[in-house]
Amino acid sequence: MYLLEVWRRWMSKKAKVLVVDDDPLNRLVLEKTLCEEHDVFLAKSAEEALAFVRTTQFDLILLDIVMPVMNGFELIVKLKENPITQAIPVIFISANQEHADESRGLELGAMDYITKPFSASIVRVRVRNQLLIKQKNDLLEMLASIDGLTEIPNRRYLDENLSREWRRSKRGGSVLSVLLMDIDYFKRYNDTYGHRAGDECLKKVAQSLLAQCKRGSDFIARYGGEEFAAILPDVSKEEAIAFANKLRSAVNKLNIEHKTSLNAQCITISIGVATMEDGRSTSEHSLLEEADLGLYEAKEAGRNRVVAH
Ligand code: GH3
Ligand code: MG
Ligand code: MG
Repeated sequence: MYLLEVWRRWMSKKAKVLVVDDDPLNRLVLEKTLCEEHDVFLAKSAEEALAFVRTTQFDLILLDIVMPVMNGFELIVKLKENPITQAIPVIFISANQEHADESRGLELGAMDYITKPFSASIVRVRVRNQLLIKQKNDLLEMLASIDGLTEIPNRRYLDENLSREWRRSKRGGSVLSVLLMDIDYFKRYNDTYGHRAGDECLKKVAQSLLAQCKRGSDFIARYGGEEFAAILPDVSKEEAIAFANKLRSAVNKLNIEHKTSLNAQCITISIGVATMEDGRSTSEHSLLEEADLGLYEAKEAGRNRVVAH
């Protein structure tokens, strides 16, 4: 199950902690203090830290204040301005014992402030505490992105992901495909077998769609009601059509009886395909609209089929 799998993957990994300090001895001691419990990364300047956070997702940053060129206060401002690094908790660790520095650090968004010389055991506990809070926030974030019935990503998650992939594709001129899927004659299914059976059917369809996503970058979400959507980065129109047919056939193979369907004896889906090539689409919404047109045409043409408008 998706939710369980995500949860497990997430619980089993070590937290990534970035130590930013210009003093080599401090870096060494902090690494020794934390390396047993966490994956520790070391940056000797704020600039190096900025380069680091572009490529690695950290769970926590331990930040010195007094450093040449860019200091810790300036760095935290930059981290909090960037949506990608905004949520990473920061703990200041500084020789500045002034209350004014501590309150400034906390005002700028740090979660905690430790003064040097520090006690290794206190650093360990404070780091652990912040990581626990971070884990809980991540879990809440995840729960808010998952559809409660089908346990696959919800519309909110889809919108975020599509926006991100659309921008990435626009920037790099790479191809991006989108699918919109809709269960055929689902109202009749509910009317025939009851709403509860309808819910069970939605779960099975969702899980079978998810099971077809073998590439890490393929993304499936519940779009709403009995509609699902897929985002397929770096997938051409032809490949997207082939993949859509694979999804369609996976649902057929579930062989869920639907005796009042007007096009088959079992549950089927119709799929609309849209592809943006060379970053040409005007907006992410226009891509979805195009997929919706394909879906409409698939319905008109008799359902249980794939159409690229
Ligand atoms: P078409 O082939 O044209 O798509 O016909 P349809 O009956 O599938 O389409 P329509 O939009 O008329 O009906 C969608 C149905 O999906 C109606 C609604 O009750 C049902 N539905 C939407 N969300 C849920 C849900 O969460 N659970 C259940 N059981 N049914 C749902
Ligand atoms: Mg519908
Ligand atoms: Mg439908």
